[in-house]
Amino acid sequence: MSDKAVQEPAAETHSFQAEIKQLLNIVIHSLYTHKEIFVRELISNGADALEKFRHEALVNPDISGKDDELAIRIDLDEEAGTIAISDNGIGMTREELTENLGTIARSGTKAFLQKLQEGAQRDLSLIGQFGVGFYSSFMVAKKVTVETRSCHSDSQGWRWESDGLGSYTIAEAAGLARGTRIVIDLKEDDAEYAKDYRIRDIIQRFSNFVNFPILLGGGKVNTVQAIWARNRNEVTDEEYTEFYKFVAAAHDEPHTRLHFTADAPLAINALLFVPKENLERIGFGRMKPGVDLYCRKVLIMKAPEELLPEWLRFAKGVIDSEDLPLNISRETLQDNRLVQKLSNVVAGRFIRHLAEEAEKEPERYRAFYKSHGQYIKEGVIQDFRHRDDLAKLLRFETSKTKSGETVSLADYVSRMGAEQKEIYFINGPSREAIEAGPYVEAFRARDIEVVFALEQIDDFVLTNLAEFQEKKIVSSDSGDLSLPGDDPKGEGEELSADAAGELCGWLKTVLGDRVGEVKVSRRLVSSPAVATTEAGMTSTMQRMLAAMNRENGGEASGAMLKLEINPRSPLVHRLDALRASEEEFAKTVAEQLLDNALIAAGMLADPRNMVERMNKLLAKAAGVA
Ligand code: ADP
Ligand code: MG
Repeated sequence: MSDKAVQEPAAETHSFQAEIKQLLNIVIHSLYTHKEIFVRELISNGADALEKFRHEALVNPDISGKDDELAIRIDLDEEAGTIAISDNGIGMTREELTENLGTIARSGTKAFLQKLQEGAQRDLSLIGQFGVGFYSSFMVAKKVTVETRSCHSDSQGWRWESDGLGSYTIAEAAGLARGTRIVIDLKEDDAEYAKDYRIRDIIQRFSNFVNFPILLGGGKVNTVQAIWARNRNEVTDEEYTEFYKFVAAAHDEPHTRLHFTADAPLAINALLFVPKENLERIGFGRMKPGVDLYCRKVLIMKAPEELLPEWLRFAKGVIDSEDLPLNISRETLQDNRLVQKLSNVVAGRFIRHLAEEAEKEPERYRAFYKSHGQYIKEGVIQDFRHRDDLAKLLRFETSKTKSGETVSLADYVSRMGAEQKEIYFINGPSREAIEAGPYVEAFRARDIEVVFALEQIDDFVLTNLAEFQEKKIVSSDSGDLSLPGDDPKGEGEELSADAAGELCGWLKTVLGDRVGEVKVSRRLVSSPAVATTEAGMTSTMQRMLAAMNRENGGEASGAMLKLEINPRSPLVHRLDALRASEEEFAKTVAEQLLDNALIAAGMLADPRNMVERMNKLLAKAAGVA
């Protein structure tokens, strides 16, 4: 080639972005069991590049080479100790090279790095899911060389080189064909990756479903097929699992899969998987969506954000619809009515699939809910269109389940007594805390089942949902709670209505702005007092508000708070007498009564005043004050 005779310009040296250096440092210096995944990552990048080219060739008339056969080629040289992976895909311009192989932009990547560094999850096989798969090649490389030329006709070729130790070089490279070739000079210990049988085996395990031929030693190694477009009955479980591992870059088995075809209102072929593990739950950052959008087996976009409702970001797989225009862009995706429709149909089908699992295989569903329940809850809050169906998928412990056992809201409703008109819930940090608190008393006394909202988000979910099967959902600490049946019979004698009214007035004066109202309770059996809140303003929300309002000691705003006192409690009787005989002491008791009620509600933010007061009370009880 005459080009070879021409002197190539000197290479420019660039430093990697700090995060990449950090990542490379981990990748190079640690021992990993899944080194082989670098093959999968480079092949998948090649396939992405081919998809992008195919798409570009369809929508851009100025692209040449439209009829080329698209493929990934692997060349091994045992003697030289190299493996080269080439594609005739979209290629990269100089800017794209520095941008794509020198910086990390994605948010999830930082969390991934953090985890890797902590060593808690030293599992590099996840790397592809965090948008940094390319760098896995440095697990086995002394040096990585990337030669690339963009598909745009005026583009020239570039050579990128790095030993992964902090910097890379870029130089012009003459005579390159369109696409990208990545050559890895293997470390001595990793010479096996230049062996044909080894690479063949890896491809068959991890990259069998790549949408383009993978050529090795002159022949095609993979089964190129769009599995989602095949008939369900003809695909084996093994093929599905293999495909899952491929699309999700996972190496476990999926928890469940949904493969369906629809003709109306849109022609859809979808194949979705739920992974067993929920990475968000084990401390990785927020996941990116994982469902790719295809049109007649041509990739339109890899995992676009707008394709499915946000809560469905844990799903992995493919949606193919021949009704979509190929030239749709990320920007127009959100406003596209067809995409909206597609999203609704798929989300609806997916929810139905989960509902069926819940009914037919409750144990399996329980496992799913345990790991992925947060997404269902998020959906109830955010996805108005599917809220009612998602609400049926919620599961809660209640006052009548065993610890750890859960029921659906539908089960709850079906167990309601004839007189009960509403669904009740109590939120608290644990079952034990709720059962020991004052809120459950009224329900226990009337034998009414009450839902336990044990996670912070549950409170929001239930408040947001507001009703289920036309039954209002009511928080047990709402001030206007009116329960069916008789008031519970407390142990002691009741304070007269007048006396109780006067005592309430006195308490309000003593407690001032700390409470909005003090009233006689109809719900308490043995506790002397309970804190309740404005209807619809549950204590979790109050806590959040209080946290935002740290200036005034972080205590919940008193205006929204009610203190309810139990007219049968001996302590309340005694307090009523004390305020005549020993008013200063009675005031101290009153303040403490409120603090105790706030503690039970989880609303006492600043205990300092209380400790001092408790010491006074103790001194009094001990007869030294
Ligand atoms: P991801 O594939 O998740 O984006 P990678 O670290 O694997 O993350 O790759 C980073 C980027 O480098 C890709 O998004 C792509 O833009 C570019 N890239 C990598 N390999 C190729 C290739 N063979 N052809 C074209 N671009 C590539
Ligand atoms: Mg990649």
